[in-house]
Amino acid sequence: MTLSSPGSSPRPSTAAKISLRGVGKEFPAAAGGRVFRALGEVSLDVADGEFVTVVGPSGCGKSTLLNILAGLEQPTSGEALVDGVPVRGPGPERGVIFQQYALFPWLSVRKNVEFGLKTLGVPQQERADRVDHYLSMVGLDAFADRLPKALSGGMKQRCAIARAYAVHPEILLMDEPFGAVDALTRVRLQEQLLATWSQEQRTVLFITHDVDEAVFLANRVVVMAADPGRLQEVIEIDLPHPRTEEVRLSPRFTQLRNRVWSAVYHQGDDRPSLEGEPR
Ligand code: ADP
Ligand code: MG
Repeated sequence: MTLSSPGSSPRPSTAAKISLRGVGKEFPAAAGGRVFRALGEVSLDVADGEFVTVVGPSGCGKSTLLNILAGLEQPTSGEALVDGVPVRGPGPERGVIFQQYALFPWLSVRKNVEFGLKTLGVPQQERADRVDHYLSMVGLDAFADRLPKALSGGMKQRCAIARAYAVHPEILLMDEPFGAVDALTRVRLQEQLLATWSQEQRTVLFITHDVDEAVFLANRVVVMAADPGRLQEVIEIDLPHPRTEEVRLSPRFTQLRNRVWSAVYHQGDDRPSLEGEPR
């Protein structure tokens, strides 16, 4: 792992970390029915170190796309590449976080975070160091010996994030990870995730159906449309870092949020251009 030097700004480099090339996915028909086309032809490059969020209506293929990148589903056409190599299955360089993250209920927070490191054969002392580091980063150091059932939803999700980060994946694939937590916790988790991202420069693909969340987190927002699942629009988010409350309350944030909102909710309409919009 390379840590960026302190004070360096979280700008992605130009190399494509993830490439989707004409990725399509059809699901076999139920008896007598027609084949279902979940994804048409999706092409997208994500730069190394970039934070891309994906929004779109329910059923537009967001999870399918993420599962293909995670290696949990195979595309029926096109290909998904990581560092130029086609994805053939799951791998430790890609950490996946789902909305309901399956923590092992019989393992403590610490042991949950440590689990993947053992599997990878990381030596004992380094395991302990990494677990401490990531638990402290997500603010769970005081809860290391608790079982998941003694944690709130937000804390469980922080544990899942620490667990995903601990194995040092180059890419984080997150599917509505904050969907099940309350609004305040959600804002804190967003800020924490961004703080971690700016320290560690992972490439992140983050799915959400929350437009504010999509704008707040991203370098770019990808808006998807359904029938078949496809990219509708890709919107650059030129908000400054760090993304503070001030940024969240700024006129530019509102402008970008409105733009993403109209791309999501008025798909097919003629979108009025917003004043001061760089096109
Ligand atoms: P999203 O995450 O955007 O809500 P999904 O990727 O989960 O959408 O699903 C896209 C479409 O594909 C949906 O209509 C869904 O019902 C369908 N779909 C997803 N997985 C399967 C599957 N295993 N078999 C059949 N249809 C599926
Ligand atoms: Mg989904």
